[in-house]
Amino acid sequence: MNVALVDCLSYDLDSVSASVDLLFEKLGGIDKFVKKGQKVLLKANMVRQMSPDKAATTHPAILAAIAKKIISETGAEVVIGDSPGGLYTSQHMSSVYRICGINEACELSGAKTNNDFGYHEVIVDGKVIKKMECIDAFLDADVVINVCKFKTHSLTGFSGCVKNLFGLIPGLLKVEMHTRFSDLNPFCDALLDIEGFAKNKICLHVMDAVVGMHKNGPTAGDPIAINKLIAGENPHYVDIVAQHMFCDPHEMPVVMKEIERGLVSETFDEIDCGCPLEQIEKISGFIPVESVGSMSLYRYPKFVRKFIKNISSQKVKIKKDMCKGCGKCAVHCPNKAITIENKKAHIKQSQCIRCYCCQELCPFLAVGLTKPFGYRLFRRLSGRSRRNKNN
Ligand code: SF4
Ligand code: SF4
Repeated sequence: MNVALVDCLSYDLDSVSASVDLLFEKLGGIDKFVKKGQKVLLKANMVRQMSPDKAATTHPAILAAIAKKIISETGAEVVIGDSPGGLYTSQHMSSVYRICGINEACELSGAKTNNDFGYHEVIVDGKVIKKMECIDAFLDADVVINVCKFKTHSLTGFSGCVKNLFGLIPGLLKVEMHTRFSDLNPFCDALLDIEGFAKNKICLHVMDAVVGMHKNGPTAGDPIAINKLIAGENPHYVDIVAQHMFCDPHEMPVVMKEIERGLVSETFDEIDCGCPLEQIEKISGFIPVESVGSMSLYRYPKFVRKFIKNISSQKVKIKKDMCKGCGKCAVHCPNKAITIENKKAHIKQSQCIRCYCCQELCPFLAVGLTKPFGYRLFRRLSGRSRRNKNN
């Protein structure tokens, strides 16, 4: 079995703890994932200041039960954290922790809230993201358990394990990512790049599907009882099992990309949740999002998105005096935005998705970056960047 599904009928802590015990038993025991002395991050979904009954965030009882089990059975140290929307600062996060019930989860379990709001640039080396800023809470942990929420999402159709990892990007820098990848396809690629970067540190994905969100998720939908906890080491498998409860996962844009990249097979034959996927019980009365790809920025006309992208993300610029016309950038540009004319590279900005591959690969340092006002503003408001931990 590589995906465990257990019943969990309420958020009463004793009932959740019993379900969490059964979940870990099915997966091979807590010792398989966490060792004594380790620092464990429970990466929750805190989306914004919303109370747990809205079903937009990971319920504190799930976090408390997992944290309590880890602390009592392994002696490891547990920190609960996330970088939700808005500012990634102590003041903003203390109100998120209070309203999302995270303080209470810590009091019940002996875990601590993450109070380090620094971040670092990391190498991702993915298809569309080469580098990104990542929160120190993730980088400083020995192991991470991704404790996500079962909910619909008006951009990607579903938000579970993979989508929750977008919260590794600090604060308002997520806006920059949304503008860089302002179409659904590259955005899904970006999510898979982030997952590819994070996977070595994440030992387990646990989905809170006790009460999920349907209709207009990720924040404006309605709660719906599902009464399940779902978990596994592979985030794609866990998401696909969850999606089987309300749709054919082949229709989900992230899953289409996973199949395209060979992360899962088209038949899903490798996924073992104890029964054939077709036999997973459908959620009665579940209503998916009306139209996938319709979220906030994405519903604006292209020219508006282009304007926002122009003011909020770094733009690549060829330094003509340094360019030798070698063509290396053009060969590796994932969106074919570069042509070589008269032995110089030219960038068609309308096609550029700002992955910065060309800047990274140019052997003659001929690709520069401009930093527009919006970009500088978002960075300033997004917490504390520490490129060198010794500083
Ligand atoms: S890789 Fe650099 S030098 Fe070569 S064509 Fe591109 S910008 Fe010019
Ligand atoms: S021009 Fe450069 S930054 Fe833009 S898509 Fe191509 S490789 Fe990426």
